[in-house]
Amino acid sequence: MKIINTIAEIRNVVTRVKKDGKTLGLVPTMGYFHEGHLSLIREARRDCDVLVVSIFVNPTQFGVGEDYKTYPRDLSRDRRLAEKEYVDYIFVPEVSEMYAPDYAGFVEVEGLSRIMCGKNRPDHFRGVTTVVMKLFNLIQPDAAYFGQKDAQQAVIIRKMVSDLNMNPEIRVLPIVREEDGLAMSSRNKYLSTEERKSAAVLYKALLKAQDEIAGGERDAAKVSKKMTEMIQSEKLARLDYVAIVDPENLNTKPTIDRIVLIAIAARIGKTRLIDNITVNLR
Ligand code: AMP
Repeated sequence: MKIINTIAEIRNVVTRVKKDGKTLGLVPTMGYFHEGHLSLIREARRDCDVLVVSIFVNPTQFGVGEDYKTYPRDLSRDRRLAEKEYVDYIFVPEVSEMYAPDYAGFVEVEGLSRIMCGKNRPDHFRGVTTVVMKLFNLIQPDAAYFGQKDAQQAVIIRKMVSDLNMNPEIRVLPIVREEDGLAMSSRNKYLSTEERKSAAVLYKALLKAQDEIAGGERDAAKVSKKMTEMIQSEKLARLDYVAIVDPENLNTKPTIDRIVLIAIAARIGKTRLIDNITVNLR
């Protein structure tokens, strides 16, 4: 496994791989690996001849006052874990390599990037689509792997790829959870013991929604209300939103039919967490 820090080097690797007619897979990450990341890496490893994992804590997707500076980083641990999964290249550029001081090029998927998480984080998805576009241009993957954990991000990336006639196949893989159901996230590290216990309420609220729907409830407002009450009853939790939407286009679904994505964002103490489930009635 080779660590690559510069654009010049990664371009050389890509040129060679393409010349050899090999398929290339990319797993974009911000590092501090957990089983969620590793599930993407394993799937990509099975699919592709050459596997590049990028590790880049992307400043443009963090808002003012967010956790860019404190975001957990541990390259030597990530490196060991990646090596065990037979990753070929880790691309770890410096911020200055990706963003020159006069940097001005941004990609935005309008509309979708301002709803749900985008309401409180207005520039977040613009940062995500910009860095993913840059990584796709540099690495030219045949397939790129994302987690359903960030369901809105996955929809936005698919839309960018489709609207801008981009090449990579986008594969979205299931959420990997802790034993109590909490979705794995690098940010779970911020939680105190007490907060960590409270955080389980997010998945419990999603399961509650699933039960209500299984019991015949089809009114999304009523399901949202039950979830909201449950989350608000947890004293360390502050709900940001509950959304019941079409998983393809994130349109609000007042009535639950066919298939819905139920997504939540909440703060547990100071830590903002997101989670979701898809409920399929078909
Ligand atoms: P991050 O490093 O948090 O930006 O995540 C990198 C990729 O891993 C994204 O596509 C995430 O959606 C995915 N991911 C993060 N957490 C999980 C999880 N618990 N299960 C599955 N995929 C995940």
